Formats: sequence, structure tokens, C-alpha cells
Amino acid sequence: MQPLIDNARTFGQRPEEFARLAEGQSPQVLFITCSDSRVVPALITGARPGELFELRTAGNIVPPYASEHPTSEAATIEYAVEVLGVRDIVVCGHSHCGAVGALVRGDDLTAVPAVRDWLTNATPRPAGAVEDPCVAEGVQSHVLAQVLRLRSYPFIDKKLTEGQLNIHAWYYEVHTGSVLTHDVSSDAFRAL
Ligand SMILES: [Zn+2]
Repeated sequence: MQPLIDNARTFGQRPEEFARLAEGQSPQVLFITCSDSRVVPALITGARPGELFELRTAGNIVPPYASEHPTSEAATIEYAVEVLGVRDIVVCGHSHCGAVGALVRGDDLTAVPAVRDWLTNATPRPAGAVEDPCVAEGVQSHVLAQVLRLRSYPFIDKKLTEGQLNIHAWYYEVHTGSVLTHDVSSDAFRAL
């Protein structure tokens, strides 16, 4: 923890770099990814403060839209799309994902009931080779399922219909730094 504190202590010593951020934010992109510490959206994309609006959840799961049951995730997505007016949403899964791996393997999650109950939002259960430590196939199918889930949000469906929003499905390899994107025409993940 101490190195992080040391860095935070000196971080604000260049206030001129941040002064304009007091005027507000107008990010172009909502970046939805896993909470995993190996995934650092600003590093991957080179985004500066104010450029990426982020939603991070265990397993980059987008819960079902249910307006009668408010969720932090739906609120974050709604704010990004309706208030900030982002034009692009990236759903980024990653290799070696613990959450997706647990789903693929059907792990017993009795000891972590909150995780278990959250992962029930991941339907259909991602399929993939149980012995693959990357869980690449499972993560990629899981990302596409989250994109479908996003499309079921009424305000997103409307923006997509109006041509005001694009959704991108990414797969990030934590062990190489490579990013693949889902190519709709070939229905395969390919290098960006
Ligand atoms: Zn993960």
C-alpha cells in the first residue's frame, strides 16, 4: 500500500494539468470491464483524465435491465449514454478472468455467496474449454452475451436504432497486452 500512498502524495503537484477538468467531463466512451487489477483501461487505450467513463464489475457482467430494481450498473450506463452522450461503448473481457473461469468450470462458490449471486446474472453460462487457463472461448462468448444484454436496455436500443451509438466487444490478453475485437462479419475475434 505504501508505494501507492507515496505516489498519491506527489500526484497533485502538477495542478496546471488538471485545472481544465473542473469545467466538467465529456468522455467519448463508456468502457465496461472487469474489476480485475490486471486490466487498466487508461493504460490499454492511452486515455487521459476525462476521456473514459468506466464501469467495472466482477466479470464485466451487465445485469438485466429492470427499472423497478435500481442497480448501480444501470445508473452508470444510463448516465453515460443519456447525460454524457457517449457515442461508443466498449465491453472488454479479459483472459484468465476469475469470474468467467468459475462459471466455465462450475466452481462451488458457497464460501463467497455475494460473488455466487452476482454471477447468476451471467446467463447463458459461458461455455469453453475447462482446461484453458486463458478461458478465451468462455470470455469471448461471455462478452458477446453482455453486449446483447446492453442492447436490451431501452435507451440503448433507441440510440442504436437512431445510429447514435456503437458497441464494441473486446477481449484483452493480460499476459501479452494484446486486444482483440469482435468482427461482426466473420463472427470472430480479431486483432484491433
Ligand atoms: Zn475478470
